Amino acid sequence: MSYRMNPNSKRGWIELITGCMFAGKTEEFIRRLKRYKYAQQNVLVFKPLIDDRYSKQDIFSHSGMSIESLPVKDSTELYEIFKAEQVKKKIDIIGIDEVQFLDIKIVEVISKIADEGVIVIVNGLDKDFKNNPFQNVDKLLVEAEYVDKLTSICHKCGGNANRTQRIIDGKPAKADEPIIVISANEKYEARCRHCYIKPE
Ligand SMILES: [Zn+2]
Repeated sequence: MSYRMNPNSKRGWIELITGCMFAGKTEEFIRRLKRYKYAQQNVLVFKPLIDDRYSKQDIFSHSGMSIESLPVKDSTELYEIFKAEQVKKKIDIIGIDEVQFLDIKIVEVISKIADEGVIVIVNGLDKDFKNNPFQNVDKLLVEAEYVDKLTSICHKCGGNANRTQRIIDGKPAKADEPIIVISANEKYEARCRHCYIKPE
């Protein structure tokens, strides 16, 4: 993506990393942020409080890469922390993981932060398991200067996959299946257009 960047660009823009599950989005997100950290830039990384799969403080990729992050409950808290930190030391880079789980005001907040001269690197799923657009990512696809839409490999046929199939007890989950199924054998698979089964 760097080849598309004009070196004379004034600082402050949005980079969106998106796509389905198992596309390596989190690896790409962490890789980009770490480059700036190695260069002693002031990097601040946020994630929504609800995502505590591995750790309350860190973001982990499936391959085991990790980066420190600050869990926030909403876009207001994120902006308040940004402002407070900005007073102490100028922030160069903001990272936001799992942006689809934040409230819709986050899009405005991200834009405001970019206007203030900060590079905002955002990671999020573009579609849910019903293949419907996720909130925030749908708007950021339009708003961001740079978009990288990563694909995965279809678990069924090995083709290019851009959808996520939710599977419960070996069968594609129905559209109205609750998001949290207690004690069910639940998993997700990347699927291509042809192998994906639209939940009814
Ligand atoms: Zn397939």
